[in-house]
Amino acid sequence: MKKKTATEEGRKEEKIGMKYKRKNFSKWFSEVIAKTELADLRYKVKGFLVHRPWSVLAMKRMYEFYEKEMERFGHEPVWFPVVIPEENLKKEAKHVEGFSPEVMWVTETGCGKKLTEKFALRPTSETAMYPMYAKWVRSWRDLPLKLYQSGQVWRYETKATRPFIRGREFYWIEGHDVFATLEEAEKQVREDMQITENVMHVVYGIPFIQIQRPEWDKFPGAIHTYTADTLMPDGKVIQQPSTHLLGQNFAKAFSIKFKDRDEKEKYVWQTCYGPAIWRMFASVIAMHGDDRGLRFPYEIAPVQVIIIPITGLGEEKRVFKKCKEIAEKLDKSNIRARIDFSENTPGWKFNQWEMKGVPIRIEVGPKELKARSVTLVRRDSEKRHRALEKNLIKTIDRAGKDINKKLRTGAEGFLRKNVREAKDLKELGEQLKKGGFVKVDFCSIDIEGLPCAEKIKDKFHAQVRGKRFDKAERPKGKCIICGKPATCVAYVGREY
Ligand SMILES: [Zn+2]
Repeated sequence: MKKKTATEEGRKEEKIGMKYKRKNFSKWFSEVIAKTELADLRYKVKGFLVHRPWSVLAMKRMYEFYEKEMERFGHEPVWFPVVIPEENLKKEAKHVEGFSPEVMWVTETGCGKKLTEKFALRPTSETAMYPMYAKWVRSWRDLPLKLYQSGQVWRYETKATRPFIRGREFYWIEGHDVFATLEEAEKQVREDMQITENVMHVVYGIPFIQIQRPEWDKFPGAIHTYTADTLMPDGKVIQQPSTHLLGQNFAKAFSIKFKDRDEKEKYVWQTCYGPAIWRMFASVIAMHGDDRGLRFPYEIAPVQVIIIPITGLGEEKRVFKKCKEIAEKLDKSNIRARIDFSENTPGWKFNQWEMKGVPIRIEVGPKELKARSVTLVRRDSEKRHRALEKNLIKTIDRAGKDINKKLRTGAEGFLRKNVREAKDLKELGEQLKKGGFVKVDFCSIDIEGLPCAEKIKDKFHAQVRGKRFDKAERPKGKCIICGKPATCVAYVGREY
């Protein structure tokens, strides 16, 4: 009988049933989170998640890339308090109206004393930051002011919560920028989209479509909202980083004024930007994972290279020594490597680390020692390579870049395939069944288009997401609902 390879043995030992990403994405998603130990769902407060090291390590890397890019585009970091006095929160009428139902209040102390003024746990930080901005901005010389902070926010969601997708506590970055003119603020919106492109698309491998949201679906207190919309494997739309052109609404509410070059006092123009690391992590899990578990892009993987000793009789010492040597070498080149010295069989280890999404596996055994080489296996393609020890760093580097590219291209293909068109309502219904975005001629994303959007919602449980922001798409005919001349091509989809 043919001797079983370590990999086959591992497959047999595998007790994980993640064989249905396409068939039952929802179940796959929950299972992958539990089995790869990203989070523990057994905490007793709904919508609050216990994050385990494997997710935190990845999200820390994701934060690093994002923060670096925010800073490269001229932002500086700040840390603002978690609590916002009620008085601040009430200042911008639309904003307070939009966020009120979700705000969680701190109202009393441990000894039962009622606070004279209650505090909100920040649902977002405009009303924490802008009173300070009013003190910091004095003249045109203080502008632009571009700050960001990383941290959590709290919103008492009434919709169903799901780990990394929708929670009552989530992790994000918020950028808050102040300008002297509307033109500069509008330019910032495009710059924010560029940051999303440079990090979420290029580094995390998540492609997206730039959308301008309809008037009825914008950030409370904003003039316009622009978002990066993308898809989940089940064809549902997920909103990723959005930028809000705040205009002067908050400037007037918080009295943020500056003396311009012409000596006149003017209100500032503002934007805010909210890349949620937490949600982007959901996309990373969902878009890149497969039936065997996670597949991390090389750049953000908690462990980039796992080294597995394959020990023959009497060779243990030499093999272990070589593993340590290699790990040190990788460490010196800033490659995050780990050796699995555990008592498990090699097959079990192969499976475990594949499931956890480590991009590259290195096997070191007596055969490899003899040939002064290692066996290198890629998580994305399962391809095995022999790599000479002296070329190891270069080989890993190249493989890492290639893995990122392959995952990204795969996700791009998925998004492209799932943008469809519909000419009439019947076609819209059919196309929506396939999931993804459906493009339709639409009367308007200004407020007069709302009744048509509501009809689409009632009939198909789908939303008009808005129109393309990065390019003008000309409609060919009439609004798919009301029959009036269409002013735009709207993207319709079912939302997370
Ligand atoms: Zn219409």
